[in-house]
Amino acid sequence: MDLTLIDKAIEEYKPLLKENDNRRLSFFRGLWQLQHDYATKVQADLNHVLPASEQILNWYWDEKPLFLMVPLTINKELFLSSLTSFSEYIAGNAGLSDDAVSTLRTFDWNKLIKEVELDQAGYDPSLWLNTAIEVAVSQSSPKNAAAETLTNKAGALGIALKCALKPMLEPAAKLAMAHYVPDKERYESNTKPLRCPVCGGHAALGYVGHTPSSEGNGRMLYCTTCGANWEFERIRCAHCGTQNQSKLHYFHAEDDPAHRLYLCDECKSYLRTSILSELKVPFCMEVEDVVMARLDHIANNVKMKSDRKD
Ligand SMILES: [Zn+2]
Ligand SMILES: [Zn+2]
Repeated sequence: MDLTLIDKAIEEYKPLLKENDNRRLSFFRGLWQLQHDYATKVQADLNHVLPASEQILNWYWDEKPLFLMVPLTINKELFLSSLTSFSEYIAGNAGLSDDAVSTLRTFDWNKLIKEVELDQAGYDPSLWLNTAIEVAVSQSSPKNAAAETLTNKAGALGIALKCALKPMLEPAAKLAMAHYVPDKERYESNTKPLRCPVCGGHAALGYVGHTPSSEGNGRMLYCTTCGANWEFERIRCAHCGTQNQSKLHYFHAEDDPAHRLYLCDECKSYLRTSILSELKVPFCMEVEDVVMARLDHIANNVKMKSDRKD
């Protein structure tokens, strides 16, 4: 995470965005500061011993996520402290419902970590997060809780868990990525990894533009679970991997050609994508993730429309 780049992107976006988007960015700026502080602590005693680069690259092309092959040990005390800090920040600043705020302020993270073994977060963080959110919601709710209450709690506890876990993974992901040296020949002749080569998660967003193996016309994907990025085919679904062109479309709002949705009819998924040649500010994964949130609403509408058509 590069706070200097984040601040530059936020500053340049300021006159281009509406008041509520700028407010959201300032809320996230606080979260990123906390993540940066925790990542610095994790980095200080990082002990993730990796094999030679050749082995790491073979796993990359065999689509074996690095953390699955060499599990990371997560420092429990630091993670618990991170969970408490993020809960407090989100409860105090996110404008959540009273119910969600009191859930975050009173939740017993220690009890959760006792029930959901932390080991798995070091080799399959996405799966661990799903289980942890489910268990956290059931621990914090009476058996007869209303569906809306459960959804609010899952949202609040889920954000805290995801935000707190990322700095535990990011320094190791960064170390691993230093081994992914650009190899143009291999990029051109191999199918590229569908999931994050470090943690095995799905891409949360991407960009089209300059990549190690293309001059301005390639595609990079980003994992928001661990912060890794990797090159991907320009015309391919980042979720199911189909390359069937008739199933793949993109969509953007008329006034914003820099941010697009890549939609896949095959698996009904979408990927939010920045188009670097249209982008008026420097590309910064964290900032783009927040700015593109409104595309999620558009995606849901598009999906509803296509469902009706079916
Ligand atoms: Zn990842
Ligand atoms: Zn698909």
